[in-house]
Amino acid sequence: MGAGVCSTPRGSELWQSLTGQVLEGVALDNVTVLRLDRCGGLAPGNKQFKLAPHLALIAAAGHRRVLSFGGAWSNHLHALAAVGQAAALETVGVIRGERPQRLSPTLADAAQWGMQLHFVSRSDYRRRQQPGFVATLSRELGADHVIPEGGAGPLGAAGCRPLAEMIAARFPQGARVVVGVGTGTTLAGLAAALPATFHIDGIVALRGEGGLEATIAALVAAQVPAAHARWRLHRDFHCGGFARADARLRELMLRCDRELGLALEPVYTGKALLALHSWLAAGVGSVRQPVVLVHTGGLQGRRGYPWLN
Ligand SMILES: *Cc1c(COP(=O)(O)O)cnc(C)c1O
Repeated sequence: MGAGVCSTPRGSELWQSLTGQVLEGVALDNVTVLRLDRCGGLAPGNKQFKLAPHLALIAAAGHRRVLSFGGAWSNHLHALAAVGQAAALETVGVIRGERPQRLSPTLADAAQWGMQLHFVSRSDYRRRQQPGFVATLSRELGADHVIPEGGAGPLGAAGCRPLAEMIAARFPQGARVVVGVGTGTTLAGLAAALPATFHIDGIVALRGEGGLEATIAALVAAQVPAAHARWRLHRDFHCGGFARADARLRELMLRCDRELGLALEPVYTGKALLALHSWLAAGVGSVRQPVVLVHTGGLQGRRGYPWLN
């Protein structure tokens, strides 16, 4: 595991077996949760893994001011602000939309950890992948390293290799891995580093996201060695769209919280659970094959959902 990533005292605390547990009448035998939400101090979840190669590069290059992009509830900016402060690195968050009267708890944390918040209009924000726009912005804001929104890209995918190693060590015979998908970077990192005995089901959090397969395939192909695990995306569990939650998702998450003591958030991990739960209820897949549900963290975002609090 990369230095500084996942500062958890005992690796075993990261694995929670749900065998013997029942959720809405569905037995969760053979399901194990990889609790990344428990690892990483102020930056729990998958984002610290995606950030780790960037931090290594920044340190090696002697850079000192890093810029990235996100919305008001961004887990990525939240994690970047936390690890930036820990590494004595200056951070700048370029935020979609006008500065609000009152900062979201996510941005309030980030600001408290020293991140400079720079708000841009929604139309400017749409240019966040244009090299010219990014170059001008980073010059204006004095940044010497830029991380794409969500920590997306080859470096982020490479950073997820330790996750694959953790999973492969725990399940040497292989398993089905269920993981939430935003940019697909985490899934790509897992697919590139897990052996062929693994199958990854990616639950897409956005509605109508067309180009994801190609993006993920390119990211997987760019990793060395090339792809091993099979993977597939599922688009039927967005529950109304990104960061939306319908009654079905809310009910399942509240029960999961109450009855299993497992807190999830509605953007990614709740939808991953919903997908897995519906497959188990329908008897899809082999009951004997172990399932790893990756808890990618993001619990700070629960503060945006009154029904969860
Ligand atoms: C960012 C995020 C994801 C999605 O990761 P990608 O690598 O962008 O697909 C999943 N779960 C949580 C909690 C996240 O914050």
